Amino acid sequence: MTECRILVLLGAPGAGKGTQTTKLVQKFRMKYLSTGEALRQKAGEDTLLGNQARESMERGELVSNELVAQVVRDCMTDFRDSTGFILDGFPRNRSQAELLEEIAGETPIWVINIRVDEEVVITRLSGRRHCVECGKITNVNFSPPRQEGVCDTCGAKLVQRPDDFPNVVQRRLQVYREQTKPLTDFYSKKGCYFEVDGNLDTETVFERISAHLTGEESLAGNPHLSAGQSSA
Ligand SMILES: [Zn+2]
Repeated sequence: MTECRILVLLGAPGAGKGTQTTKLVQKFRMKYLSTGEALRQKAGEDTLLGNQARESMERGELVSNELVAQVVRDCMTDFRDSTGFILDGFPRNRSQAELLEEIAGETPIWVINIRVDEEVVITRLSGRRHCVECGKITNVNFSPPRQEGVCDTCGAKLVQRPDDFPNVVQRRLQVYREQTKPLTDFYSKKGCYFEVDGNLDTETVFERISAHLTGEESLAGNPHLSAGQSSA
């Protein structure tokens, strides 16, 4: 995996996108580009792009597709020599996906969608408890604390965040589905789109994504391709 590529990871809240991103960065030494962070960083610079970003953020506006695309383009030039990078927060809609095609030029775009069932996400997210002191996250459904409602690490209280209430999770999922549908439609027609079953455990999901990125999965999944090598 030496060729530079752009990796777009799609996944609903609770799909495990953050965890998979961390593992991909470690294993493949890919760069990570969060457009939210990049925008904030640019806004602190005294450049034309920085000034535009700052003004738009200060006015509390939604940053335009073109401006986000500019920021991505700007950051990408620093990454050209790497094995690739993972984009977070971009593209969010069809227009941004088209802008990304322009920015990417010859650099291949790989899209991986981590699909999870709604019940799985609700079980994952509604079980989360945050420690009010040290910020540690415990999941009562998977790794319950030794004492109910108490942080194993520091002994402070564990609370559930409103974002993780089941009804709120359901609404977040609905918003996500509506936003992402046009993107998955766009990419699934382009042949650079791969879906992985995010209901499986973290390690299995990671193995499948890795196999896809290194091309191993095509050998395992298609006996015709490996027939010549494996007949011995
Ligand atoms: Zn704690």
